[in-house]
Amino acid sequence: MPPLTIGTAAARPGEITYGTIDGIALPTGGTDPFPVIIAEGKEDGPVMWITTGIHGGEHTGLMTIHQLLSQELADALRGTLIVLPALNPTGLRTKQRMPYVIQSDPNRLFPRPDQNASPSKTNSDSNAKPLSEIEEAFQRIYDLIAETQPACLFDLHNAWFGSIPFAFRDPVFFYPHGVGRTRAQAQKLQNRVGKMLDAFGFTIVNEFVADDYVSKNLHRSVSGSVLNGLDIPATTIELGSWMHIDSGVPQAAAAGLRNVMRSLDMLPGDPEPISGIPVLHPDYPVRRTIFPYAPKTGIVHHLRRPADPVQVGDPLVRMTDIYGRPILEDDGLIRSEYEGFVMAWHHGVVHYQGEPLVDLAIRDEDDLIVPYPG
Ligand SMILES: [Zn+2]
Repeated sequence: MPPLTIGTAAARPGEITYGTIDGIALPTGGTDPFPVIIAEGKEDGPVMWITTGIHGGEHTGLMTIHQLLSQELADALRGTLIVLPALNPTGLRTKQRMPYVIQSDPNRLFPRPDQNASPSKTNSDSNAKPLSEIEEAFQRIYDLIAETQPACLFDLHNAWFGSIPFAFRDPVFFYPHGVGRTRAQAQKLQNRVGKMLDAFGFTIVNEFVADDYVSKNLHRSVSGSVLNGLDIPATTIELGSWMHIDSGVPQAAAAGLRNVMRSLDMLPGDPEPISGIPVLHPDYPVRRTIFPYAPKTGIVHHLRRPADPVQVGDPLVRMTDIYGRPILEDDGLIRSEYEGFVMAWHHGVVHYQGEPLVDLAIRDEDDLIVPYPG
């Protein structure tokens, strides 16, 4: 077999090799390629992809990759690890979530996963506007992922300041009326996702499902697109604060990724413990929700920290005016309407009416196998 190549990087057994994948053309000349790293084991085995940096201000994934990749890893590896450390090179240079070349969230620009099942809804309907260069570049990366038939893909992100690190579990769609995945196949794929997330060992939080997921374009996120479009277990990992590295998070994430490789028989040995971060395993599945929103403009005093458990009726925040006097009934308190735990506070202490204040993980009764809406 010829050696695996990804862009200009060619795999060599027992080595880590480097290269680039074609990116977008720049108006000042030249192009903006994506860096790529391949760690190739001496023995053949499964392929795993790790991507990060599609949001340019999120850097813990980069730290994690730098800690994970070493000659020691390549020596012990069976199979192939393919790593893209900067899915948004312009955003990384400017330390911004979005690339300056397009005014939209790049993590909603991966290929639509329903192209095969619903041929009328392709990326480039003849009446629709042409694809942007970024979407074309992401299509090339998606095609490379498809060609290598990986066992799984991890896309590394950051969430809010002080947020707990966690793994998002996306819904898997089935197509009740069309060509495409059946309900039973969707369940099988979701079970494989579950095994992958259990091996990673972080707190697991379900994404918004069904209509909400598609209306938010999350089916065009890296993980949503690869999972639902290519039948490859894929996940978005949130690694705590952005623009700041929480101590312990990259070590925990690198350990989790090695544990996934062990579960795939790509690395020898027993799983490592995940330490240095809170890991929450309530005895019911949870999903993310925003609660509360500020009912009035004021100063927000948080009363529960990220990772703290919450019962219905527990005070979450107290809102005051500039003099410290409560501006709401019940001494300014807003109490939880849900059971679960705190994931994160939204930035700042000054909040205007209608702004989100807290992200909670709450009991999730929704099915994660859902008919494709529409
Ligand atoms: Zn992100």
